[in-house]
Amino acid sequence: KKLGVALVGLGNYSTNQLAPALLESKNAYLAGIVTGTPSKEKLWADKYDIARAHIYNYQNFDKIISDKSIDVVYVVLPNSMHKEFVIRAAKAGKHVITEKPMGMNAAECKEMINACDKAGVKLSVGYRLQFEPNTLLIEQAGQSLPLGPINHVRSDFSFTIGNPKQWRLKKELAGGGPIMDIGIYCIQAARYATGLEPIAVRAVEYKTDPIKFNSVEETVMWQMEFPGGLISNHTTSYNMKANELFVSYQKGKARLEPAYSYANVGGILGKQRLLPHEVNQQALQIDDFIACIRDNKISKVSGAEGLQDMKIVDAMYKSMALDGKRVVV
Ligand code: NAD
Repeated sequence: KKLGVALVGLGNYSTNQLAPALLESKNAYLAGIVTGTPSKEKLWADKYDIARAHIYNYQNFDKIISDKSIDVVYVVLPNSMHKEFVIRAAKAGKHVITEKPMGMNAAECKEMINACDKAGVKLSVGYRLQFEPNTLLIEQAGQSLPLGPINHVRSDFSFTIGNPKQWRLKKELAGGGPIMDIGIYCIQAARYATGLEPIAVRAVEYKTDPIKFNSVEETVMWQMEFPGGLISNHTTSYNMKANELFVSYQKGKARLEPAYSYANVGGILGKQRLLPHEVNQQALQIDDFIACIRDNKISKVSGAEGLQDMKIVDAMYKSMALDGKRVVV
């Protein structure tokens, strides 16, 4: 039997990626919705055949505790709302997936992990790329080292942001700028490509448009220092275009471009061409979480994984405030 998932927040990512992924999922289906916009209720109910009893808003959400059709709550709200809804879902006895970044900072992530532990429910973060086949080859290359040890990692993820009024440009809702939104993919990549945890970071920010970016950073460049002296280099920006992971090994190199898109992730690994796979990353990610629930296993992208990234992000903001001084993670 498939497990029921309720999506909380029916914005772009829920509408265009997660709801379609739930139609493709082998282990889960869209069983309920939680929305603050009444006009979306009928639209979604008709499209996905959801009965009135499984439709909630942010106020009555806690009633989900007695909804037997819902096994998993998937939080897809602005970043500042992740913690509240993860904790409320855990208290309602539901397993939880939250979108990235897991929380506004590491302290929030710890609260979320504790709430889920206390409630005896599983928690994971929407790190879909950890289920993408070519990304997995890069991860394996960092473990079995067919091209020798890694001597450098470089990854940039940037896009040019539109509407200046959106929540992604408001610190109180987003927690920060491109670091929180897309820089986090580069942090993830440097960690999964090397299998190592950074011990220190250095980060600097620069702005060309202080009006549009009056609340969050526009562009951040940073380095992460790993045990043994390995350095990774990164740029993330809301005012550039980039989507790449590059790994230099002693005997070759790997490059994914695009590295972080929903489709077409591909490139090279040594002499091997990594052709894009036609997979639904979100369906793979959700199916893996359902399998973890069934087999009582900890997800590869558990709360601990989200917390680790936010510890690095916290250190990056500290370093930025100190004009790029080295800050220990
Ligand atoms: P969006 O703006 O399209 O949707 C946000 C939803 O939250 C909307 O339905 C909106 O009505 C609701 N909302 C509730 N309170 C709000 C408030 N105070 N301000 C603004 N909106 C409010 O955003 P999105 O792109 O769907 O992103 C949602 C989450 O998903 C974010 O945490 C984002 O980082 C994450 N995300 C992840 C991926 C991925 O690839 N894993 C991709 C896109 C977004």
